[in-house]
Amino acid sequence: MSTDPLARDVAERGERALARLAELRAVDPPTTGGRVLSYVYDSGLPGLDDIAVRAAGAAYGVNGLDPTVYSSVAEIHGAIVRRIRSVLGGDRSPDDDEVFGSVTSGGTESCLLACLAAREVCGRTPGDGGTIVAPVSVHAAFRKAAHTLGLRFRGVEIDPTTGRVSAEELLAAVDDDTVLVVCSAPAYPTGVIDPVADVAAGLEAHDPRIGLHVDACLGGLVLPFWPEAGDAIPASTPWDLRLPRVTSISADLHKYGFAPKGTSALLSRGRARHRAAWFATVDWPGYPVVNPTLSGSKPLEPAAAAWAVLEALGDDGQRELVARTARATDVLSEGLAGITGLRLLDHDPGPLLAVAADDSLPRADRVHPHLWADACGRRGIAVQSQPAFAQNRGTFPSSAHLTITPVTGELTDEILRVAADAADEVRGLADPAPPAVFADVLDALDSGALSPADLLTLAEDEVHAMVAGVLGDGAGDASDGGPGMAPLLAAIERLPTEVGSRLVRAYLAAVMET
Ligand SMILES: *Cc1c(COP(=O)(O)O)cnc(C)c1O
Repeated sequence: MSTDPLARDVAERGERALARLAELRAVDPPTTGGRVLSYVYDSGLPGLDDIAVRAAGAAYGVNGLDPTVYSSVAEIHGAIVRRIRSVLGGDRSPDDDEVFGSVTSGGTESCLLACLAAREVCGRTPGDGGTIVAPVSVHAAFRKAAHTLGLRFRGVEIDPTTGRVSAEELLAAVDDDTVLVVCSAPAYPTGVIDPVADVAAGLEAHDPRIGLHVDACLGGLVLPFWPEAGDAIPASTPWDLRLPRVTSISADLHKYGFAPKGTSALLSRGRARHRAAWFATVDWPGYPVVNPTLSGSKPLEPAAAAWAVLEALGDDGQRELVARTARATDVLSEGLAGITGLRLLDHDPGPLLAVAADDSLPRADRVHPHLWADACGRRGIAVQSQPAFAQNRGTFPSSAHLTITPVTGELTDEILRVAADAADEVRGLADPAPPAVFADVLDALDSGALSPADLLTLAEDEVHAMVAGVLGDGAGDASDGGPGMAPLLAAIERLPTEVGSRLVRAYLAAVMET
């Protein structure tokens, strides 16, 4: 025991804080065990998490800002990049356009940096019309990147039945302002792999500076190991760096790399594009600044954990975990497809499933996916509701999303039992209605008394007051029998997207203010 009285007090208060943290964590949904089918990626190997925690502990305190001082940073980042590059076909490219990489804090940062590099390679400046072209199903991170970087986002509609984009339509959207075309492998909402090879071939006719980014944030460490799954996506149709026209690719270690949150990789073809995402300056009186990613000071802990997990698993471990994931996906997709009132959305081989209402049946037999998701939540299985997406060519339907991980295989029976009971509970119910406090606003929008522009000019405090009313109803919390997420999603589906975006921002802010 220290004789320093401050050290004694600090130790005591620290213990109290740790006890409080344990209490707070006890009411969180579990991060392991497979009952939460989004957000978390559980290998099902408890020893693996232990290795990650120990690696993070061993890296504790390092500042990743400066690899010239902390050389372990360059070594760990280099090892992660080499491993991901080899998994994603980057070793096969000719030497003169070698693939380089950065380790980032997550998928959003990897995607944002790919867009930044594309803007710089094309010599564009914020707000000058430089454009990202992508299917509307691409991850929202690209809309965020456009917003942040002063680029335009041009979404190309997907087929409302299959969720697929046509390569021709994507290419037809490419013009002199395009700095980057994005394809997903797979897209998060649908599980569909975009036609990367066809897009790559079509881009040969365009300015070579236009980038082609493959967002394999989710798929990068799972699709390359997926067992041969029929011929829906033949192994002969590559979507990765084996295609020379692919200029960058992102893969998250904190998804199917089974690492704790905070690590993703961005690989870029050629030194110029790789370095175009960096920021460097000596134009201040402090130390020379070189930041390969958005942050300045940054932890080594997540990357060290991710690296240790990669090393521990190796190719054979990764392959086996993905095989378990694939078996669980097969069992669940067959089981879910057998539930009257639901239908599985079209998807490619991979760990994502989405279900929608089976509208080939009479209304009395249909199961609304958002009511079903809330009913699953009340039974301890969390699936993720996704709003319908309106397009000119037809609305992509309301759905519920499931991310399958290796541990899912241990409880497919329970999940399918819950899925069936939940469907029985909500089958034939009317579609969910928006929260009552929005009724006036929605009516005013419908009647034209209020325009979306009016809503966008509302003061933030007024928006807050509306949304706080919804929180008072207990929306969002299905676990204690509350109304769940369905009413909020119904409101999102009825509102113009800019208004809906403002609403969900206010909603989360209100949750965090309480
Ligand atoms: C998860 C994901 C992202 C964003 O990653 P974060 O790690 O959540 O920032 C981007 N694209 C796809 C396809 C994803 O699944």
